[in-house]
Amino acid sequence: MSFIVGIDGPAGSGKGTVTKIIANRLGLTNIDTGITYRCVALKCLKNQIKLEEKDKIINIANNINIVIDNRENSDIVHLDGEDVTQEIRSKEVTSIVSQISSIKEVRLAMVELQRKLAKGKDIIMEGRDICTYVFPNADVKIYLEASLEERANRRYKEMKDKGINISFEEVKHNIEMRDKNDKEKEIGALKLAQDSIVVDTTNKTISEVVEEIISIIKR
Ligand code: C5P
Repeated sequence: MSFIVGIDGPAGSGKGTVTKIIANRLGLTNIDTGITYRCVALKCLKNQIKLEEKDKIINIANNINIVIDNRENSDIVHLDGEDVTQEIRSKEVTSIVSQISSIKEVRLAMVELQRKLAKGKDIIMEGRDICTYVFPNADVKIYLEASLEERANRRYKEMKDKGINISFEEVKHNIEMRDKNDKEKEIGALKLAQDSIVVDTTNKTISEVVEEIISIIKR
């Protein structure tokens, strides 16, 4: 039996950063499920598929080849054999990924892939629906949150550091839209599982959040 830690929460709540550190500290395999939806969104952009062309998007999701190479600091992502590690974080992908991931058939295909990636491993998996849908029986369930202002600030800084040309208002608007869309999904909506433990990361340092979650896991 494998050991599963699920971490859900909205964009910018700190999931990505803390999950990676905890995975390294506890020897768990880290799986960032957002990567899978970002790859579908990127492939749609590359093929000039519009959001209205649902059948084509579903076809992409059902035939996509995603390989995630877990590294200590960041994951290397290959989409159909091509390294797309940077591209999947572009603002073009970020602005459509939530709508792409709202399509039921896309979710079903990605959830199947996510469960396959986890098979037989001790994992820490982060996303929006891990504790409610992907692994409702996870051993540890955490819900991370932070104020909208703080989340937008973190993402803005991250994108600026990567040299992406974007305004703070644009980042904040995108997060608000994604939150709204993610909470309204037909399946796999972002919501608090009944038995999840809420960790508010507002005004906390990364290491404070890491220690808090590790003590929850150990308990
Ligand atoms: O976590 P990240 O921001 O990379 O996720 C990108 C998008 O993928 C989210 O805005 C959300 O719409 C979608 N997603 C999802 N379910 C997950 C993970 C991500 O719907 N488990």
